[in-house]
Amino acid sequence: MEDLNPFHIAQTQYARAARYIRASDGLLENLRRPERTIRIDFPVKMDDGTIQVFTGYRVQHNNARGPFKGGVRYHPGVTEDEVKALASWMTWKTAVMDIPFGGAKGGVVCDPKRLSTEEKRAITRRYVSQLGSAIGPMIDIPAPDVYTDATTMAWIFDTYDMTHKGQNNLPVVTGKPLELGGSHGRATATARGCIFCVEEAIARGLVEGVRSLAGARVVVQGFGNAGAFAARFAHRAGAKVIAASDSSGAVLAPAGLDPEQLMAHKKQKGSVVGFPGSSVLGGAEVLELECDVLIPAALENQITAANAERVRAKLVAEAANGPTTPAADEVLHRRGIPVIPDILANGGGVTVSYYEWVQNIQDEQWDEERVEGKLRKKMVNAFHAVFDIATERKLEPRTAAYVLALDRVTRVTELRGIWP
Ligand code: GLU
Repeated sequence: MEDLNPFHIAQTQYARAARYIRASDGLLENLRRPERTIRIDFPVKMDDGTIQVFTGYRVQHNNARGPFKGGVRYHPGVTEDEVKALASWMTWKTAVMDIPFGGAKGGVVCDPKRLSTEEKRAITRRYVSQLGSAIGPMIDIPAPDVYTDATTMAWIFDTYDMTHKGQNNLPVVTGKPLELGGSHGRATATARGCIFCVEEAIARGLVEGVRSLAGARVVVQGFGNAGAFAARFAHRAGAKVIAASDSSGAVLAPAGLDPEQLMAHKKQKGSVVGFPGSSVLGGAEVLELECDVLIPAALENQITAANAERVRAKLVAEAANGPTTPAADEVLHRRGIPVIPDILANGGGVTVSYYEWVQNIQDEQWDEERVEGKLRKKMVNAFHAVFDIATERKLEPRTAAYVLALDRVTRVTELRGIWP
C-alpha cells in the first residue's frame, strides 16, 4: 500500500532533491523538520449553547529567508502531519518564488459546512488569541487556505489588533478584504499564477501538440477559490473547460462550460452538480479524462499510484498543495507527462500576499494592473528558473523546484551562520 501521510510525502520529495545539494548533512537534516509545532485544544460555545472542543495547529517550518508565512485551513481532515507538510511546502514555495518569507501553516480540525458564521468567528478568535505573539507582522503571517477567506482574515486581523495595541497590525495577516488593507488581485492570485505557468509551459513547447491556451481542453478538479478562478482565466484565454468537479461530484461538457455561469450555479446550489447542459461524472473520473491541461485544485493525494497510469492529460498544473504522490510523480515522468509542481504552480497566492504585506507596511494601495504586472514577472521568472534546472540536470520538475528552493534556503542559512 502507498504511504499517503502528507508529511512522509513531503520528506520523500525533499530527499529526492537533497542529494543534489552541497550543504552539510546536519543542515539538510534540520530542514527536513519544522522548527516549531504548536497545538492548541480550545473550547467554543456553539449556537445551541453547548461547548465543543476544537484542535488547532500552527506549524512554523523555517524562517531563514524571512518571517514565517502560510495559510490557515479549516477542514475535518486536518492533522498535525498534514499541517507539517503544508508548512514545509510553504518554505520551498516562498524560496522558489524568491520572496522574502519562510514557511508556516495553520489548521483547525472542524467542518466549516456545518458551522454558522458566528461559530466560525468564535473559533477563529479563540485560535488566534491563543496563538498570542507566536504570530505577528514580522514573525509569522497567516493567510487564507482551504475553507477560509477574506472574512476569516478580517477576524484574524481584528483579534490580533485588539490584543496588540499601538502598532500597525495590518501586515499580521494577508488575504484581507480590500476595505481592510487587502490587496487588489489577491483573491484571484493563485489561479492567475497557475494560468501564467500553463501559458509558459505551452510557450516552452512542453505540451505536445498544443501551441496556445486558446482552444486547449482544460479539466479542473476542485471548484473552490483556486479552481473556479483558474477555470475562468483559462476560459477567458480561449480554452475549453470541458469538466469541473467539487466535493459533491463532477460535471462534463465536451463543448466547454462557462465558468462564470458555473460559479453562479455553485453559489446558488452549493455544488457544480446539476449545471444545465452538462452530464454527471464521478468525482474521481475527472482526473482520467482525455484533455490538454489537468488542474488539480482541491486537496492532497488525488493523483496516486492507483490512478496515475490512467491520467490522460498532456500537462498537470498543481493549483492545490500536494495533489500528486511521489509514486504518481514517477509514473507521470515515465509517461512523459510534465507536472508543474504546487510549490511553483500555486505560488501566485503567496506572492500577492507578499505584495499585500508590503503595501500594508508602506501604507499604500496599488492598483490591480500593478499587482498583476509584478505577479506575471515573478511567475515567469520562477517558471523558467525551475524548468531550466529540470532541462539542464535532467530532473523531473518537482525535484528541480526543490533543488532551486533548497539552494536558496541553504545559501542564506550559511551566510547567516548557525546561532550562536
Ligand atoms: N494558502 C496559500 C498557499 O498554500 C497562500 C499562503 C499565503 O498567502 O501566505 O500558498
